[in-house]
Amino acid sequence: MRYLLGLVLVVALAAGGAYVYAGSLPGPTIEIAKPAKYVGQTGTVEVAVTAPGARLSSLQIAFEQNGKQTPLVSLAQPGKAEFKQEGADRVRITQAIGRDSIPDLKTGPAKIVVTAERTVLYGLRKTQATASHDVTVRLEKPTIAVISTKHYINLGGSEMVLYRVTPADVESGVQVGELTYPGYPASGAKIEGVRIADPAVKLAFIALRYDQDVNTPMHAYARDEAGNTARADFDHLAFPKPFKKSRIPLDDKFLDRVVPAILDTTTEVNPQGSNLEKFLVINSELRQKNAQTIANYTKQTAPEILWGGAVFHPFTNTAVEAAFADQRTYVYDGKDVDRQTHLGFDLARVVNSPVVAANGGKVLHAGPLGIYGNCVILDHGMGVQSLYGHLSSIAVKVGDAVQKEQELGKSGMTGLAGGDHLHFTMLVNGQMVNPVEWWDAHWIQDRILRKLHEASSGT
Ligand SMILES: [Zn+2]
Repeated sequence: MRYLLGLVLVVALAAGGAYVYAGSLPGPTIEIAKPAKYVGQTGTVEVAVTAPGARLSSLQIAFEQNGKQTPLVSLAQPGKAEFKQEGADRVRITQAIGRDSIPDLKTGPAKIVVTAERTVLYGLRKTQATASHDVTVRLEKPTIAVISTKHYINLGGSEMVLYRVTPADVESGVQVGELTYPGYPASGAKIEGVRIADPAVKLAFIALRYDQDVNTPMHAYARDEAGNTARADFDHLAFPKPFKKSRIPLDDKFLDRVVPAILDTTTEVNPQGSNLEKFLVINSELRQKNAQTIANYTKQTAPEILWGGAVFHPFTNTAVEAAFADQRTYVYDGKDVDRQTHLGFDLARVVNSPVVAANGGKVLHAGPLGIYGNCVILDHGMGVQSLYGHLSSIAVKVGDAVQKEQELGKSGMTGLAGGDHLHFTMLVNGQMVNPVEWWDAHWIQDRILRKLHEASSGT
């Protein structure tokens, strides 16, 4: 009898212990991934819940503002929420939110609150977890209006757009087809006596790529962190430009000189085979990688204009051996072996002639750069940059501030160069553009200074 009583006691204690222990087991792990910080007119709530077997007995996602909770998703009423299993123990719940699901949505602080519960001890007990995440509701759309007029843009060329955006701190710029050009505060355009104090006025240098359609749509845009967007069209005319076709003969003497020399300076490609086969990899794959490296320098651009408003040094007294966007066919042994577009000017003078900065700026790159050989890239601010390729020697270093016409080095034939010349190009937000415009005083006046002066006198 006493033995039986003892046994009952032990079992009861064990069961009780298990019950208490089960209650102390952790609840599901909750991670509120979205919204990160802001909720706009529309948005997304995204929550990941981790529990063994991803088995939840209940789940509620709610929106809380001014003391009032609005249920968004529950296991019982999943509505339009998407439940996605991620591995054995994790489920991700995604649902669109906005004025439809939260009729009382107001600008100001709010919270996402998530409660999840799982069963333990063979379904006898439940264990719960709650998480909340502070967000800010921003319902007012930004506003944007273009204030510059008469935008004329050539295929492969550049333009400048001035616009006013509020709030002044939202992301904004100009979209040209698939490509975006960020705007910078126009207060950074302190050139030629221009002073624009209004922080809402922004300036974007834009490009119409040589390979985009002449009818590519373009507009100014603004987008706040809550995802609210606004756009503004602007008057513009785009002009086609015929590009020259040329044929470049390749011979073994050229390939034997340039191919090993370029491959010595890069680990970005590692082609095998004959020098012609290696050349084809350099001319296409390495050319593309170099273009990406060059485009990445736009991230380091200064938010103000560094070049003072003067025309870019036009490299007169040089022979133009190739122009911007020449369509080149490469010929080896009588056969067409490759086609590429030449995105720059080839300017030849005498061997080892001084190469000067086209305008004031800062050195971002000074060293080998694949097909461009020894190469200097200068930043002129607000996404405008210039590139000097094939140098035999470099006289500046990264970080140097340079004056217009300061010597950067000597011309040469490093990289993919058939003879001593300077390969020069201008860049707008990483896109190679025709430098001819930047060499032209009328173009600088009409496209840039006129618009800046018009905005300057009005403030
Ligand atoms: Zn060139």
